[in-house]
Amino acid sequence: MCDLNEGFKLCSCDGDKLPIEKIDWILERRNEELPFRVRKGMAAQNYIGGHEKYIKSIIATHLNAKNCFDFDYEPKEDDLLKIKKRENGARHWYSYRFVAGKWEEDNSTSFDSWRSQHERYRNGKNQENINDLFDEQAESMLTPDDLEEQNKKSNAILKQLEAMRAKVVKKEEEEQKKKTDAVQEQLEAMKAKIIKMEVEEKLQNLKKLRATGVITEEEFNSQKAELEK
Ligand SMILES: [Zn+2]
Repeated sequence: MCDLNEGFKLCSCDGDKLPIEKIDWILERRNEELPFRVRKGMAAQNYIGGHEKYIKSIIATHLNAKNCFDFDYEPKEDDLLKIKKRENGARHWYSYRFVAGKWEEDNSTSFDSWRSQHERYRNGKNQENINDLFDEQAESMLTPDDLEEQNKKSNAILKQLEAMRAKVVKKEEEEQKKKTDAVQEQLEAMKAKIIKMEVEEKLQNLKKLRATGVITEEEFNSQKAELEK
């Protein structure tokens, strides 16, 4: 196994034994015997902006400066190299195509027909996080325009977040109000029930008083009318 702490190195040791999630780079080669397919459709382009744009170009410079692989490698026209960048667990790739004797940054997708004749040639590992290797250099290459673009982007994201938060708060308030209204209704119902029971209780008392002659029929009627107001 190569020492991957020594900088940018595309290591192919045990490449064929690597589980798919451990593969950091894939080199593909054109095989003209494979069918050339025209695929219709569009794949989402990976947007690369800010300092990543420079990381991608720094890697191209390295690829063109020397053999970055751990095996004797003679690039062939149309070789395609994809290098994984880790990003919140998702897999994104920087990709390069060998054209006219040099590596070029590539923005193709699997829907580009020229890639249909490509097959895997080698794969392997590199640094844990390729961005760590070139971050600082890339950061120093940022122009005022890049910074402004980044700023705009993060402001747009902040705005989005704010809008989402406002939505959540509104929803919570609505829920809360619904709950409060329901409780209020229950309370009213309970109150009404209690009042009804009290009236009932008092009426029973009055009836007893009338039956035992403590109050007259007239008094009973007037007190009953009072109760039922
Ligand atoms: Zn190696």
